[in-house]
Amino acid sequence: MTIQIRRFIELSDILGMRFECKHCGAILQLGLKAIQQGSLYSCPQCRADWALLGGGGPTATNVETAFLRFSEVVNAINRVCKEAPIGFSLRFEIRDDNEKREIKTTAEATG
Ligand SMILES: [Zn+2]
Repeated sequence: MTIQIRRFIELSDILGMRFECKHCGAILQLGLKAIQQGSLYSCPQCRADWALLGGGGPTATNVETAFLRFSEVVNAINRVCKEAPIGFSLRFEIRDDNEKREIKTTAEATG
């Protein structure tokens, strides 16, 4: 028998984001309301490019906007869920690395 366990979180469970530098391992944790333009341009420790690719030069690409938008959307939906009498609750399914577990039943175990 296979049992599938599905895990869900509420948006209010998301307290912030954790960024780990791929170069030096430094960790930056920011609450959703603490992320501001420029927060993610480069590693606060080693200065490696993070979301401002190309070091801010003329060919630089800024991908930080996606993260700023994500935090804005999470904050906006949390606000709506608290203030408006919406007729549903919202949960997000998250991956579980131990998603499927084989359970030996008595019949299978002996057969
Ligand atoms: Zn770094």
